[in-house]
Amino acid sequence: MRSNRVSVLALVLLAVACGEGEPSRAGWVDLERLTNADAEPGNWFTLGRTLGETHFSTLEQIHDENVGELGFAWEYRTNTERGLEATPIIVDGILYTTGNWGVVYAIDAATGEERWKFDPRVPGSWARKACCDIVNRGLAVWKGRIYVGSLDGRLISLDAGTGDVVWEADTLIDRNRDYTITSAPRIAKDKVVMGNSGAEYGVRGYITAYDIETGDQAWRFYTVPGDPSKPFEHPELEMAAETWDPNSRWDVGGGGTVWDSMVYDPELNLLFVGTGNGGPWNWTTRSPSGGDNLFLASILAINPDTGRLQWYYQTTPGENWDYTAVQPMILADLEIEGRVRKVLMQAPKNGFFYVIDRESGELLSAEKFATVTWASHVDMETGRPVLTEQADYDEAPKLIYPGPGGGHNWQPMAYNPTTGLVYFTYFDDPAIYSRRENYRFVAGWNNQAVTIEAAGLGNEAQASTQENGGFLVAWDPVTQQAAWRVRLGDGIFHGGVLSTAGNLVFEAKDDGDFIAYAADTGEVLHRIFTGNSILAAPATYTVDGVQYVAVMAGWGGGLLGFYPPGSAVYSYRNEGRILAFKLGGGTVPLPERTEPPGPIPEPPPLEASEETIRRGGELFLKACHECHFNVYGGYPDLRRMSAATHLGFNEIVLNGILADRAMAGFADTLTEEDSDAIHAYLIQMAMEARADELVARQIR
Ligand code: CA
Repeated sequence: MRSNRVSVLALVLLAVACGEGEPSRAGWVDLERLTNADAEPGNWFTLGRTLGETHFSTLEQIHDENVGELGFAWEYRTNTERGLEATPIIVDGILYTTGNWGVVYAIDAATGEERWKFDPRVPGSWARKACCDIVNRGLAVWKGRIYVGSLDGRLISLDAGTGDVVWEADTLIDRNRDYTITSAPRIAKDKVVMGNSGAEYGVRGYITAYDIETGDQAWRFYTVPGDPSKPFEHPELEMAAETWDPNSRWDVGGGGTVWDSMVYDPELNLLFVGTGNGGPWNWTTRSPSGGDNLFLASILAINPDTGRLQWYYQTTPGENWDYTAVQPMILADLEIEGRVRKVLMQAPKNGFFYVIDRESGELLSAEKFATVTWASHVDMETGRPVLTEQADYDEAPKLIYPGPGGGHNWQPMAYNPTTGLVYFTYFDDPAIYSRRENYRFVAGWNNQAVTIEAAGLGNEAQASTQENGGFLVAWDPVTQQAAWRVRLGDGIFHGGVLSTAGNLVFEAKDDGDFIAYAADTGEVLHRIFTGNSILAAPATYTVDGVQYVAVMAGWGGGLLGFYPPGSAVYSYRNEGRILAFKLGGGTVPLPERTEPPGPIPEPPPLEASEETIRRGGELFLKACHECHFNVYGGYPDLRRMSAATHLGFNEIVLNGILADRAMAGFADTLTEEDSDAIHAYLIQMAMEARADELVARQIR
């Protein structure tokens, strides 16, 4: 009784102290504020600012005529050198965002000063489970609390004022499978909903809803059926199972992970959920007799009260190419053929831009925004893509557009209601797909049913003849065509997009330029060199009447380890930071400059048999090569190991003494003999590379 009385008293005192009641609490976002977001344009309440996540701001202090004066306002250094992908959320002058592992930062949005930081303390070994870097795509702010998923699968509720943990829930159904979380949770009414990542790692996709106050699990929706010989967890799976071969590779999990976008519409009381690719990728390996394989690569509309499915639309039936439909979804009202429709828009990996009536699930239109060769068009009668001969790679390798990166990937897009255009970066980057026989499930990276080669490499017959690379497009979702399009360069990964009422589009390139475009014409109005290869989308807000534009800067994600020549990350250290700009700001302080690597140091003497070295090479390909390409880039070139690294080789590889730097230990899969063999192979590689260097010097 006593403790109850104290807490009631504390609440009364808190209410008195705050004067205005709850809204003055830090991080106070509720449905009323969110519904009226345009009345408070100084705030950025969700990842995309509004309920519909448009990534559009009505602010216009910065506009197309004065944006040339935009410059550096402040920076906050995260002290990381990995990908940063989140869009910040700004509430009443505090900027909340996430970095690697699911670390949360609360920053003074006017000065860049840290208010608090929360580290979920994810064990470094989890880096091995993340396909595409130890990234996190953001958080949710709701009624004085922060919601974030950590890489190791925990959904955590924090006090927005202090960063203290309120509750924590384990979202993983099986900790022996390589599930991770890299996406943001979403708030749907009185629930917080979390998805997972890991479709290439032998997992079965699902989302889980929790009571927002207590963290108690409310429901779980699986995106693919489990083994039909066991009971279905919910009724939708019975229907889904009919689209799978009964002898599907249930042991692999099926994939369909929800690793990016969910959007909630309170008016319809529907949560829209984008689902991922199949696991393994190859359709006929996964489900021998074919079938649509629901609910892979689909958009689901789910009632958050019950967890029941209202409608679904599958973008890629029989998913076969890593064509996820998890990409950002925007909700808007569009006038189509004289009728205002409540639509959902998505530009998923498969290269088609979809406009869907979000009330009924009816497909309104679908057209190609990128080069697409797997399908000729989407049949509007059936809503299904019409496959080309080029799509099927079971019998022979095929060059296919888009490749597994997409089309369009996770980088947020923006819908500007003034221009009526949707802005996003996409790329033309085909791949040669071939089916591999004798597929066998192995733990960890588990995609050995398909081989992917870059187009044109040693396969001239299938070389791509067109100019590939990255693009920024302004897409008219009503006419389904580009209003304008800018080629960003040979690099494929560029930044997410922000658009504002100042007739502006902000987007960053891999070469380090943060660029303002005219939203109506695509004209470049201003470039700010940052020295960072930026991937994330900017947000904009005001503090004390000053408009800021802020963006997270840090290279990595799906291209982790590749430092393409010409990119900022090739010449500058990949220093993670949040950058903020304002009118009249200065020049951006650049990250430390890096030098191209010098000569390869002399390795210790090689004391191993040819057989050991050969075996070491095989083990290296299996266990190490996914990260260590041994080129100049984000992961160390192991031919360049220092004397100290050679000495501690087994301690690093087996016992994980560098786990805090995301080099996990492999003692569970490699023996000391294995590690010695890999070491011998790397010494051999270093010796060969040194010999090549010597020859190159003599020729010069
Ligand atoms: Ca994938």
